[in-house]
Amino acid sequence: MIDAIKLASNEAPFGPLPSVATEISAGIATVNLYPDHGAAALRAALARVLGVDVESITVGAGSAGLLQQILLAYVSPGDPVAMCWPSFEAYPLFAQLVEAEQVRVPLRDETFDLVALAGAIDERTRVAFVTNPNNPTGTVVGTDEIAELLRSVPRSCVVVLDEAYAEFVTDPRVTDSTELLGDFSNLVITRTFSKAHGLAALRVGYAIGHPEVIGMIDRTLVPFAVNALAQRAARASLAAIDDMRIRVDEVVAERGRITGALRELGWNVPDPQGNFIWLPLRSSATEVGLALERRGIVARVFDDVGVRVTVADPPSNDRFVAALIDAAREARITPHEPAAP
Ligand code: PMP
Repeated sequence: MIDAIKLASNEAPFGPLPSVATEISAGIATVNLYPDHGAAALRAALARVLGVDVESITVGAGSAGLLQQILLAYVSPGDPVAMCWPSFEAYPLFAQLVEAEQVRVPLRDETFDLVALAGAIDERTRVAFVTNPNNPTGTVVGTDEIAELLRSVPRSCVVVLDEAYAEFVTDPRVTDSTELLGDFSNLVITRTFSKAHGLAALRVGYAIGHPEVIGMIDRTLVPFAVNALAQRAARASLAAIDDMRIRVDEVVAERGRITGALRELGWNVPDPQGNFIWLPLRSSATEVGLALERRGIVARVFDDVGVRVTVADPPSNDRFVAALIDAAREARITPHEPAAP
């Protein structure tokens, strides 16, 4: 049996920062007590760091929890919910839960097509997702393009800007999206402590939006959904934001290194702006995914679409690159061949 490495869930390759681990340990003494349902201290800390009013912030059980809450708050059976596709796999699940009509617009060049998305939104559309960077393709759209979309859609449509991977973005076209909130009360931004902060197991994310939207989201929060250890850890991580950034920079450097290596070998790798890379392998995706797995690399395979691989520590990344070269040889894929549409 070879040791397998899981590169399938875009998790951070490191454990909690020492100061965060200390805080989690300290919290164990009081797990007999319910947490603060409103997470007042964490919301205040987020408001300070982000430079927004505390009424414009809420927290949830991961950003996935918040996405589900947004649909529960705004969507009735039969209401259209719009997104580009492929994107985060949870959107269709949450849309099904509220019996929404799913409107899916294809990506263009592996990237959210905001013009086509805007064209698919009408007076009936309750929620639209913009995923920046997109999962699974890792590509971004510029903040001014998002502003353009917001200008062209009805205010009755809540635009969810899912920024789960925001901290990893280096493309200068992406600027601080909270600056759009003043002009667009129907915008809500979701972020998470699961990725850059490395706290995926604790389940804590946050949303930034107009106080009225935040109030709607809060109405659907399961009582005490954000547990006390998560609240403590998130606050400690915000207090150690410079250390967190050093770790993010390491992931970004590794992302650049393996992207460069793969492109040099002829692979088509769309510009990765999250903590993962995307191989748009189309009809070869499943075969390559299985061949990687036989070599101990567990990636996320989207049948007939592509393979998504999380950027991890340097030895794991090297192992992935070597396995991919080998897997392509076995599957008789020449990397420089353009992927079939
Ligand atoms: N949005 C996107 C685009 C994601 O990829 C993920 C996690 N894979 C999430 C949201 C949810 O993350 P979490 O619930 O851990 O915050």
